[in-house]
Amino acid sequence: MTPHILITGAAGFIGSNFVYHYLNNHPDRTIIGFDKLTYAGNLENLSAIPGSQRDRFIFVHGDICDSDTVEKVFQNYQIDGVINFAAESHVDRSIRDPRIFLKSNILGTCVLLDAARAFWGNGEFPDNKTRFVQISTDEVYGSLGPRGYFTEETSLDPHSPYSASKASADLLACAYHDTYGLPVIITRCSNNYGPYQFPEKLIPLIITRALNHQSLPVYGDGRQIRDWLYVRDHCSAIDLAYEKGQCGGVYNIGGNNEMENISLIQLLLSILREETGDEDIDEKLIQYVTDRPGHDRRYAIDSGKIQRELGWRPETRFSDGLKMTVRWYLNNTAWLARVVSGEYKYLKS
Ligand code: NAD
Repeated sequence: MTPHILITGAAGFIGSNFVYHYLNNHPDRTIIGFDKLTYAGNLENLSAIPGSQRDRFIFVHGDICDSDTVEKVFQNYQIDGVINFAAESHVDRSIRDPRIFLKSNILGTCVLLDAARAFWGNGEFPDNKTRFVQISTDEVYGSLGPRGYFTEETSLDPHSPYSASKASADLLACAYHDTYGLPVIITRCSNNYGPYQFPEKLIPLIITRALNHQSLPVYGDGRQIRDWLYVRDHCSAIDLAYEKGQCGGVYNIGGNNEMENISLIQLLLSILREETGDEDIDEKLIQYVTDRPGHDRRYAIDSGKIQRELGWRPETRFSDGLKMTVRWYLNNTAWLARVVSGEYKYLKS
């Protein structure tokens, strides 16, 4: 049997976008997509895989915390690479219920690292293409003042249960590299946006609510700054890191698009008005609400290392990416309705 790459969290937002990217760009490779199908994971996100590529995608429904299932996948499919997207990913949910974040994000990563170590052998890996890529976040670095950028050398200083769980997983992945020689690479990206994002995250939340003329909740003064990365640019960066990155290394991946949340919402409203002709989609819908506890003020990423070492840079202009995203949601209202109504819950644990 030829080896397979394991993509965990394949039915989520970034995972599903990565599956499309990888199938298109690596016609010789077969993917094992692994996902627990939580509220955020949806098999419909993968339904656009063309018939000609279907025989190169195998879906396994499972939990990364379940070592028996994970080990079987390694055995049955001769896994020679892992990209771990699977995680609980929403900060607000982590504030309400941290434990599921610790379980999936830390224990789950540990189970995957152990399976890779057991299957690939201690320090004697099948070939130099074997890789374990841990998908992390810029939130592990904490909050910035008005100036400066996160580099790969910035100390970890997470402030939410979500970012603390991701920082813990990063440290564990580094420890497996240092202790066992496991070929680990960590990528830390800024806020992603694009198709298939569950509508609890800022951009699809605003699009969904504005289309229904519902109030648009804005935390605190709305002047928190985030850097925005189009998900397809992120996928090409991960692909490069997986194929050519230095093991034991961290790569920051940013979009060079810093914006205050409130300005982003205003921009989205104007795109929505333009695209729909609906003049009732306006700033009157904005409603300031109590700030999120521990809310980081500013994130900004220095992506110089991945640009210098691997030649990656983001290609999508923010205004273009936002328009494409708005149009995708407008063209996929049935998907949106089903995701919001939880029609897929019968598949979910
Ligand atoms: P998402 O919530 O859309 O998808 C996560 C996927 O993981 C879902 O399909 C879910 O079903 C699956 N999953 C959760 N727990 C699991 C478990 N125990 N076993 C198996 N599958 C499980 O998240 P996303 O936005 O696609 O994020 C993917 C990764 O990227 C995460 O690790 C996240 O921390 C990281 N990240 C995301 C962003 C962003 O802006 N979305 C930014 C930085 C980092």
